[in-house]
Amino acid sequence: MLKTLRRIIQEVSSAQDFKESLTIMVKHVAKALGTQASSIFLLDRRRGEYVLMATQGLNPLAVGKVRIPMAQGLIGLVGEREEPINIDDASKHPRFLQIDEVKEEAFKAFLGAPIIYHRQVLGVLIVQQPEPRRYDESEEAFLVTLATQLAAIIAHAEATGVVDKLFNKHEAKPNGEAVYSGIPSTVGVGIGTAVVVYPLMDLDAVPDHEPENIEAEIRLLESALAAGREDFRLLGERLYPNLPLEEHSLFEVYQRMLDTTDLGVEIIYAIRRGNWAQGALREVIQAHVSKLEAMDNEYLRERAIDIKDLGHRVLSYLQRNDRMLPQYAEHTILMGEALTAADLAEVPEGCLAGVISAKGSSSSHIAILARAMGVPTVMGVSDIPIYGLQGKAIIVDGYYGQIYVSPNPTLREEFERLAQEERELMVSLEVLRDQPAQTKEGSRVILMVNAGLGADVSLSLAAGAEGVGLYRTETPFLMRDRFPSSEEQRVIYRQLLMSFAPRPVIMRTLDIGGDKALSYFPVKEDNPFLGWRGVRITLDHPEIFLTQVRAMMRASQGLNNLRIMFPMVTDVSEVDESIRLVKKAHAEVLEEGIQIEFPEMGVMVEVPSAVYQASTIAKRVDFLSVGSNDLTQYLLAVDRNNSRVANLFDSLHPAVLRALLQAVEGAHQEGKHISICGEMAGDPASVLLLVAMGFDSLSMSASSLSRMKWIISHFTKKKACKLLQEVLGMESAVMIRCHMELALEQVGLGGLIRAGKR
Ligand code: PEP
Ligand code: MG
Repeated sequence: MLKTLRRIIQEVSSAQDFKESLTIMVKHVAKALGTQASSIFLLDRRRGEYVLMATQGLNPLAVGKVRIPMAQGLIGLVGEREEPINIDDASKHPRFLQIDEVKEEAFKAFLGAPIIYHRQVLGVLIVQQPEPRRYDESEEAFLVTLATQLAAIIAHAEATGVVDKLFNKHEAKPNGEAVYSGIPSTVGVGIGTAVVVYPLMDLDAVPDHEPENIEAEIRLLESALAAGREDFRLLGERLYPNLPLEEHSLFEVYQRMLDTTDLGVEIIYAIRRGNWAQGALREVIQAHVSKLEAMDNEYLRERAIDIKDLGHRVLSYLQRNDRMLPQYAEHTILMGEALTAADLAEVPEGCLAGVISAKGSSSSHIAILARAMGVPTVMGVSDIPIYGLQGKAIIVDGYYGQIYVSPNPTLREEFERLAQEERELMVSLEVLRDQPAQTKEGSRVILMVNAGLGADVSLSLAAGAEGVGLYRTETPFLMRDRFPSSEEQRVIYRQLLMSFAPRPVIMRTLDIGGDKALSYFPVKEDNPFLGWRGVRITLDHPEIFLTQVRAMMRASQGLNNLRIMFPMVTDVSEVDESIRLVKKAHAEVLEEGIQIEFPEMGVMVEVPSAVYQASTIAKRVDFLSVGSNDLTQYLLAVDRNNSRVANLFDSLHPAVLRALLQAVEGAHQEGKHISICGEMAGDPASVLLLVAMGFDSLSMSASSLSRMKWIISHFTKKKACKLLQEVLGMESAVMIRCHMELALEQVGLGGLIRAGKR
């Protein structure tokens, strides 16, 4: 069964188009279960009807025509119950619905499985047979498994508008207009042109691209193929003496496949059809691999690996000569499968209008960086065909997490109007820049910024930040291909410390691991967020820690506004060891003749154990700072980077709020300052609660500063405390968020709400 399942899924996935994949599915299901009929009905939600989309065994002319109301028939019943229904004689069932066009009166046995994706019923997959009988358990399990696999394919087709087109052929949208949904990450509207970035040496990630000169692309391909053939010739020569005789021909076969008369012909044909050499190579290799992987014969299936290898080899030669450097548009909407900090940094200043990532969620580091830059961002747009969108007009709606591809003029005008309103709002908030953040009755709240990219600094200063509450030192590490030297680090840190002096700058020691991997320091783990990250790495590598801390201290000479903070602390022994190393670094810097004061030190509270030991930790250092992104992730056991569980990630969860209160209490018990520097500090629905809890300072992205100042100034501390008491009696994040949003709306601040968390 498993083998059959795998083969069906592979064939269905490699179908030319969606309709064909449904047809393949019903054909194979009927065959595998030895049953006379198999059909797929998809739910047309707009009209509340199930539509017959593919059948093997029922009247083929009924496809696309037969529509069953949601609340009727056995199909409707499967959808309603959201579970399989297995009946030996369907005609006797009270919900049996006679439909003349499909000629199904001949069938008695009925088994239907719902097709569900992310809790939503998309359709029903059924099998039928003339003789009355119950399908056995293994057949039912088989159908259910296929339905779950089919769900992802249908969801993708729905997201790309294909299903809609099939339902309403005459209403199909022109010009490739399409809408995709993801996780809203930075509020705002971005309008511009898609610039797709893709990782090198990954054949599946090569985008389509129309070549300027077809003959030049063919020449590039021919020279890459020749280089590949030469590789195999040399490899063959080197290995022949040690290879058994029957393997000798292998390398000759590879060479022949890379001949311009074999795979080469197909790739050249794909170039002539209008794709560049790398895209054409991907098309052809992927088609062969899918075909081979769907074969019954194990030997042939294994050959798929060889073809992939050939493809990668040729790609490496093509990319050596022809890497398509991104052509940034004046209003660039940067798109990628999994964008990196370097991708963001490479966009020329002033050109980044929006960010779309197929992977990740609003708490991923790349999302945080984009937020720091104030760029509308949508994450986790898993269904978007990124590599086919290069150069297309795009609208990013960062409030609702929607992406509009090739929008029609009316939609574009509407969003341009929204973007204009937004600019006006920002101008009106600018008046707050030089005013301190304070509540209505004058209670002061210190607002700092989180920094990482150089570009943040000017934004932060412009936003009137009172200092840097978190400088993520890993950003310059992530943008290099080796560890930055001590001097390189000193220069970067000095610039930041000077820009903010005399205001304090809290520099966090290197926090790599988890989703912040350095290409030159790979950490491969099954469970990276629970593994070697943050201070766990740097304490195991004191040379990295000491180099960094010395660079920070040297950079602060004459300024003395440096504070140092340790990330991912789980245990007091890590605090003690970090302090010992900082003292050592200080003594060494003094020995060099550099006079600097011993910096204040702090610990991030971002692991549950640190919450419970907040006062014990606070005793040892000068301040605590809550990293609510990681703390939420670890308290709720929700991967901050996984878009599938993003709906569960909410820092307003009652358990997180209680943990925050406990951390504040722990710090204050020892008379120490406590700050919060996770994204929560810049969330309109959270900020008043944090003020009420007694956080001494809030640190957030520069783009959130004026909005938070504005909110704080509209409430008294007493009202904030009342709201906190009210939400502490609530049982879920959803209720708490609604309550806070209502409170904002009541004072006319509804427009500042981060729609994403609704
Ligand atoms: C946090 O975890 O909340 C935090 C501020 O650190 P980072 O997002 O860099 O992990
Ligand atoms: Mg963290």
